[in-house]
Amino acid sequence: VSTDYDVVVVGGGMVGAVFALACGEAGLRVAIIESQLPVVEPGDQYDLRVSAITLASRAIFDNLGVWQDIARRRVSALQEMYVWDAGSSGTVHFDAAELGEAELGYIVENRVIVEATRMRIAQQANITLLCPADLAGIEVGETGALATLTNGSVLKALLVVGADGTESCVRKCAGIKTHGWSYDQIAIVATVRTDGNHNHAARQIFLPTGPLAFLPLCDPNLSSIVWSCDTQRARALLDLDHDAFRQALQMNFGDTLGEIVSVSVRASFQLGLGHAERYVDARLALIGDAAHRVHPLAGQGVNLGLLDAATLAEVVSGARSAGRDIGALRVLRRYERWRRGSNLTMLAVTDAFKRGFGTSHWAIRRLRNIGLAAADSLGPVKRLIMQRAVGLVGDLPRLARTTRR
Ligand SMILES: Cc1cc2nc3c(=O)[nH]c(=O)nc-3n(C[C@H](O)[C@H](O)[C@H](O)COP(=O)(O)OP(=O)(O)OC[C@H]3O[C@@H](n4cnc5c(N)ncnc54)[C@H](O)[C@@H]3O)c2cc1C
Repeated sequence: VSTDYDVVVVGGGMVGAVFALACGEAGLRVAIIESQLPVVEPGDQYDLRVSAITLASRAIFDNLGVWQDIARRRVSALQEMYVWDAGSSGTVHFDAAELGEAELGYIVENRVIVEATRMRIAQQANITLLCPADLAGIEVGETGALATLTNGSVLKALLVVGADGTESCVRKCAGIKTHGWSYDQIAIVATVRTDGNHNHAARQIFLPTGPLAFLPLCDPNLSSIVWSCDTQRARALLDLDHDAFRQALQMNFGDTLGEIVSVSVRASFQLGLGHAERYVDARLALIGDAAHRVHPLAGQGVNLGLLDAATLAEVVSGARSAGRDIGALRVLRRYERWRRGSNLTMLAVTDAFKRGFGTSHWAIRRLRNIGLAAADSLGPVKRLIMQRAVGLVGDLPRLARTTRR
């Protein structure tokens, strides 16, 4: 089978789906190749995977007409954030009111984002979702690129976009290397019930073995946890039965949210840092985790990916309006120049946090103490950190800038 599209997007996760929708809204003919069928779970069960979504990401969803559906399904507003260090007395408190905003961001289940985005995609006649379908290989020519599926189908497009995650097949097919390393850490995620109310605040404690975050869900007594630990410690925690894990969690987190009443099943993810040596080739571009992978401690991975998606869509649709070839390297380089620097900054900052808080050396602990106290008391520094964390600064693509509510 041979079909013609403007863009073939490999990967229909959060980033790929948003990119496809943005291109579809701009009138491009799009195909999405996605290997995983959606998981159907009872609506009252929370997805173990949630994301802290910045205000910039919310604007993207708003402008694509997806936010209303996300909000109708399930969203938790994030109004405050507390960050502290188990080895020292410093605490930083961030409050949305200090920025003059109603929220610092939102906690949304990954499944909710994908479902709402795909629902909108289904309304677009110019977007075709092929699922389940697996990419086998790509071939780039002068005038177009061919994406071959494992079932033998071949799709022809002007541009192939890899939104296929950290193990990106598109990136490997193009021979693009990544720079990075494993953190020798595993993140354990679960849904936790506490007898205390989270009051829509996120809390993160830096333990000597890695950060532990409690993210507030819609139910005032439910939080989603991300417990990043050195591999050996994480394996031991994963081997514990429910009650022993609950007790270990209580001991490490303390009683800030009262008693930890119950813990759901757990899932785990290997952590690492990775950055593709380039984001584009002729007729090919990488977005999201296919281009970069960060530690989850700052909750920025998907937010960076959504900015990639909005930026690439803006560059590609601009080229189409100007009558240019959307797969030309010169066009795609504009996307790379726009995003690479700010992605690299976030990778470096997150890595510095991971390392700075991962040591128990007394001198570094002292520095951390001073740093946390300074961040909390120096108004302009704190404001800058908050503005960056919520995505309100930088050279944002149009979709992330204004809200057409
Ligand atoms: C524990 C944890 C907590 C996190 N918390 C946050 C947070 O709070 N905030 C935040 O911003 N980020 C967070 N992140 C990061 C975030 O989850 C990722 O950045 C995000 O999922 C990347 O989205 P993506 O669409 O680029 O890739 P993915 O989510 O990996 O999606 C890739 C898609 O491509 C498909 N695919 C792969 N290969 C093929 C193929 N060959 N053919 C067809 N389809 C294919 C896959 O099935 C998948 O659907 C967290 C990460 C972890 C591990």
